[in-house]
Amino acid sequence: MKRLVSGLALLALTACGEAKAPETVATPPPPAGPAVKLYAMDCGRFTVKEAASFSDDGAYKGQKRDLVDPCYLIRSEKGDLLWDTGIPSAVAAVSPVEDDGSITTLTKTLEQQLAELNVTPADIEFVSFSHLHFDHTGNGNTFAGSTWIVDKDERDAMFSDAARKGEDFKQYGALEAAKTVLIEGEGDHDVFGDGSAVIVQAPGHTPGHTVLLLRTANSGNVLLSGDMWHIAESRETRRVPTYNFDKAKTLASMDKVEALAAAHSAKVIRQHVPEDFDALPKFPAPLE
Ligand SMILES: [Zn+2]
Repeated sequence: MKRLVSGLALLALTACGEAKAPETVATPPPPAGPAVKLYAMDCGRFTVKEAASFSDDGAYKGQKRDLVDPCYLIRSEKGDLLWDTGIPSAVAAVSPVEDDGSITTLTKTLEQQLAELNVTPADIEFVSFSHLHFDHTGNGNTFAGSTWIVDKDERDAMFSDAARKGEDFKQYGALEAAKTVLIEGEGDHDVFGDGSAVIVQAPGHTPGHTVLLLRTANSGNVLLSGDMWHIAESRETRRVPTYNFDKAKTLASMDKVEALAAAHSAKVIRQHVPEDFDALPKFPAPLE
């Protein structure tokens, strides 16, 4: 009798096991999917003597702040994407540059850093910038042979009559003839077509500012947030720089980017914040 009970118990356990099996099959963990490797390059550093312009509520008035200015190489089996190109490489020859108490430093050019990976500008399939400012498009012309992915509003601003007369135009004007993929309307752009690198519109800092959502194999999802936040504490305080193109759009984009990061459990990299840059593997090691 005892043995029979044991036998029944065993049957019950087996039945339980069998009953549970389909549940496990029905809710598998989401497939990881194709992933990219992220290389963080130092494409400039700033010590800003007066940080007041980084918030329109005066929070940073009279403060001195250090900012990093990275470029990112994103490598996929389907090609390479360069996200932001830093300040002009010519600065390296005269670095450090002091201007009214603020200091700009560039110790190694973008081309020199790419060469450490045996990559030349001609090898790069795709280039994209979070936005048009000089510290992100500084070497744009060097990548005019790549396919340029850009928000239509941002491209229009880059080639406006006023922009053509500016100093910054000299660094990116050749992109006008580049093979171009326009991001229009409310769309995102899936760079490699497999969800591993998606450019998402986040306007406000500039007319067509964008952020980049990446999937890595071992480190989860990462969100490069462009100039959504220049200063670490600007994220939680939702501070908006004085010189942003549109404050209401900036605040709406902050909400959008936070929701995007939460939905994908993505680690947010505030691109100008030294502690975020320093937390990434030191180049030439990638985050993967
Ligand atoms: Zn910037």
